[in-house]
Amino acid sequence: MTNTLYDALIAPHADNEQTFLDCDDGSTLSYGGFVRRVAQLAHVVTNAGVQPGDRILVQAPKVADVIALYGAAIQTGAVYLPLNTAYTEAELSYFAGDAAPRLIVCDAKDADQFKDKFDAAILTIGSDGTGSLATQADDAPDRFDTADRDPNDLAALLYTSGTTGRSKGAMLSHKNLLSNARSLTDLWAITDQDRLVHALPIFHTHGLFVAMNTSLLAGASVRFMAAFSVDEVIAQLPKSTTLMGVPTFYTRLLNDERLTKTLCANMRLFVSGSAPLLAETHTAFEGKTGHRILERYGMTETNMITSNPYDGDRLAGTVGYPLPGTEVIITDPDTGKSQPAGEVGMIEVRGDNVFQGYLNMPEKTREELRENGFFITGDLGVAAEDGRISIVGRQKDLIISGGYNIYPKEIEDAINDVAGVLESAVFGVKHDDFGESVCAAIIPEAGATLDDQAIAGQIEPLLARFKHPRRYIFREALPRNTMGKVQKNILREEYGS
Ligand code: ATP
Ligand code: MG
Repeated sequence: MTNTLYDALIAPHADNEQTFLDCDDGSTLSYGGFVRRVAQLAHVVTNAGVQPGDRILVQAPKVADVIALYGAAIQTGAVYLPLNTAYTEAELSYFAGDAAPRLIVCDAKDADQFKDKFDAAILTIGSDGTGSLATQADDAPDRFDTADRDPNDLAALLYTSGTTGRSKGAMLSHKNLLSNARSLTDLWAITDQDRLVHALPIFHTHGLFVAMNTSLLAGASVRFMAAFSVDEVIAQLPKSTTLMGVPTFYTRLLNDERLTKTLCANMRLFVSGSAPLLAETHTAFEGKTGHRILERYGMTETNMITSNPYDGDRLAGTVGYPLPGTEVIITDPDTGKSQPAGEVGMIEVRGDNVFQGYLNMPEKTREELRENGFFITGDLGVAAEDGRISIVGRQKDLIISGGYNIYPKEIEDAINDVAGVLESAVFGVKHDDFGESVCAAIIPEAGATLDDQAIAGQIEPLLARFKHPRRYIFREALPRNTMGKVQKNILREEYGS
C-alpha cells in the first residue's frame, strides 16, 4: 500500500518523540503523538462516512487537532478543504455548495446552518479545541490502515484568496504538494534542528503547505501560534531558527524597539511571501537585525514558484529564481510567445507543483492551463539575463491609458520614496478619452501632512507624463483581504465614477 503524502510527511515519524507542535497554552504534541492523533481522527472521519476522494470542509480555529485533521484527510485518502475563518455565512454556503463536502468540521455555532442546508456529516471544534471532533477522537484507536493514494490523486482543494474576484477552488494532488515541499525543504535547508515560528493562518497555501509540509518533511519543531502577535514573536525569536511571514509581519516587527541583532542571534532564516515586500522593509530589517529577508513567490494554484537563494544574493524587489523542477517563462500576453530577458510579460509556470484545474470551472481551467502544461499565472513579471524574476504586478491591475501600458508598481515605488508616505496603491479608473486614467491612493505616516502638489512635484520629474497620477486620494488605510493583500478592485469601484 502506498499513499504519497502520508508516506513522506507522516509515517516516518511514528517513533519520533521530538516536539512537533508547541502551542500557546504551553501544551506540546510530539511527532509520535501527532501520528497517533492523526490515526484517531482518521477513524472519526471514516465513521462519519468519508471515503477516499470525498471532501472534508474545515472552517476551524488554529488548534493542533486541525493539523491532525489535515493528516487524517491524507491518511484516509480524502480531500482536505480548509476555509478562511473570516468567511461569512453567505460565503460559506457558496463554498459548501461548490465543493459538496461529505463532512464539515466547524465551530458549534455554525453547525446548525450547515445541518439544514447540506447533505454532509457535521463535527464541531471550538477555539479551545473542544467539540465532537475531539471527543470522538479521544475514544478512537490510535492506529489506522492508511488508504492507498496515487501521486496524481487529489489531496486538497484550496480556494484562492479572492483578491481579484470570487475565490476559485484549486485542485491539488499529492504530487503537487510533495514536490513543492521537497524543493523548499532542500532549498531553505530545513532540518529537524529547526524551530519555526508559525503565526500564519492554516487555511492558506503559505501557512498550511509552505510552513507545515516542509516542517513535517524535515521533522522540524513548530511554535504554533493561534495568531500573529508582535510580543509573542519577539519572545520566541531567541529560541527559534526560522520565521515565515507576510510583509505586514515584518513592518510590524520593525516598529518595535526590541527587534535587534541580539534578539535574532539564534535565527537563521526569515521568509516573506503572499504579497510584495517593499524594498524599504527589506533594507530596514537588515539594518536592525543583520538578516536579509528571503522573499519567495507562489500562488494557491501552483504552490511556490520562485525563491531568492538561501546561499547567495537575496535581492530586494525580486522574487529570485524558479524552484528546481519548476519552469518559468515570460510571455507576450497577446500572443503567448516567449519574451526575451528584460521585457515585461505574463509569468507562466510548468512543473509538478502546478494544480489539476479549478473545481467546477472547466472553461476557466482551459483558459489558464495550457495543453502543454504551462499555467498562466495572471502576474506580470520580468526575467533578468540570469533568470532572476521580478514581479511587476497583476495583469488585472495593469492600467492602459491612451494606448500606453502603465505598471502601477513603478509609480507606487516612486510615491513610497516620498518622505511622509507610509504606503500607496495606484490603480486605473475609466476615462472617456484615454480609456483609463491613473489614480493614487496614499496612506500618510502617522503625523505626516501631505498634499497633492508636494507629491506630484517629487514624483513627476521621475516618470513620463502619461504615468502621472491624475488624482491623489489620501486615506487612513488600504482595503485589504484577510491575507493582507491590497484589493484594488475595491479602490476601482470606490473611485471609479
Ligand atoms: P485570487 O486569485 O482569488 O484573486 P490571490 O491571487 O490573491 O486571489 P493567492 O493564490 O493567495 O490568491 O495569491 C497568489 C498571488 O499573490 C500571486 O498571483 C501574486 O499576485 C501574489 N504574490 C504572492 N507572493 C508574492 C510576492 N512575493 N510578491 C508579489 N506578489 C506575490
Ligand atoms: Mg490568483
